Amino acid sequence: MIKKSKKVKDYKLLTKTLPTMRYLEPNSVFVSVQNNRCKTYEMSVKEGDHVLFGQQIGVRHGGFFEQPIHATVSGTIGTISKKLHRTGRKIDVIEIKNDFLDTPHESVFDRPDGVIEKLTQADMVEIVKQKSLVGLGGSGFPTYIKLGTRDKINTIVVNAIECEPYLSSDYRQILENPEEVITGLSYIMQALSVDHALIAIKSMRNPLYEVLTQVLEVRFPHLNIQVVKLGNYYPQGWEVEMFEQALGIRIPPGELPTKYGVIGFNVSTTVGVYEAIKHNLPVTKRHFTITGDAVKFPQNIYVRVGTSVRELIDLCDGFIEDEENVVIVMGGPMMGTSVTTRDVIVSKATTSVIILKDVEYKEEQCVRCGSCVYSCPAHLEPVQIMNAVKRNDKDVMKGLRANECIECGLCAYVCTSKIHVTDYVRKAKKLIG
Ligand code: SF4
Ligand code: SF4
Repeated sequence: MIKKSKKVKDYKLLTKTLPTMRYLEPNSVFVSVQNNRCKTYEMSVKEGDHVLFGQQIGVRHGGFFEQPIHATVSGTIGTISKKLHRTGRKIDVIEIKNDFLDTPHESVFDRPDGVIEKLTQADMVEIVKQKSLVGLGGSGFPTYIKLGTRDKINTIVVNAIECEPYLSSDYRQILENPEEVITGLSYIMQALSVDHALIAIKSMRNPLYEVLTQVLEVRFPHLNIQVVKLGNYYPQGWEVEMFEQALGIRIPPGELPTKYGVIGFNVSTTVGVYEAIKHNLPVTKRHFTITGDAVKFPQNIYVRVGTSVRELIDLCDGFIEDEENVVIVMGGPMMGTSVTTRDVIVSKATTSVIILKDVEYKEEQCVRCGSCVYSCPAHLEPVQIMNAVKRNDKDVMKGLRANECIECGLCAYVCTSKIHVTDYVRKAKKLIG
């Protein structure tokens, strides 16, 4: 169990009370045709072709799976160019010039409830596979693989903890669309033949508790779904910690939760299941947060996948500092990736961009205070791993189980000497493969 002395200030106050803006009509979207899991691709369209909203326009090839690529607006295909992905790597993207008609492809249709009731696990797995749904909380892992588990599941947990500071898109999504979250969860329950599910939130998020319990009681009294309040600390949203606190089940490192009868889905992914099953829609839009102490008007925004982050930052009236004095982080401030330009695109699994004042910290000598060790949720010894990296001693890195680091960033956050300890542990993971 994690030592919970380090409480996190509520940085979400910048945006969590702001209703979600809609920005759904960019002039162009830049749909990623590659990502960190899929290096190669084939397009079934060419420059100048007209495409419809939701139409399949190509396929990405991953190591052991394929992902259809879909148009997120209707319009005209432009060229393939390079843009920055949330991971900080340049990837190929294809431009679609928006015709602002949003004409749906014939593959987009509403599935009647009577038809949905008869869908089997195999049917639902095939639908989310064809709709290219992935873990939208940032993992990007193909959802059809999770949903296709052969393990006996007793409890599904929707991870609505959103424990990274600043982020609030899940929070707003639940407040504004609780029925989509719950309906998506009911489809997952049907697919996995499970009659019990939890929605896990932080105990300080009372508005979520109230809206979810009320909607469950009034609209879904037939479903055995409970809302559970968990701790107000980071990283409560780490799945291992969430399962332990919600169900008392500790998943050992390297093991799949499904082997222990549990499975977790992020809020946006759960809504993605709803969109795929109910509307036969791929992920074409998502909730996104732009926040931080260096952006003028932080916002929660509902956007097309493929929208340029530069446009969204402009929508927030830009930075309060010169560009060279800010740090742009894709994802959360603890686990996200710093990027050097605004020319990033919103990909399916991009939750947010955090813009912070660039405060320079001078690293000092390690004083062996042990704070990094006491704080590590994976029970590692970050300082010893750092020392092994400095000596390039891979055997010690392995012996210290550096590969079990979840890159939560806490060791660097708590370090008395402002050392980037997490960077050393990341390096150790790379060195030992
Ligand atoms: S980043 Fe890794 S080593 Fe550092 S506290 Fe988190 S899990 Fe532990
Ligand atoms: S927290 Fe920083 S100063 Fe303290 S032991 Fe770890 S690396 Fe050293």
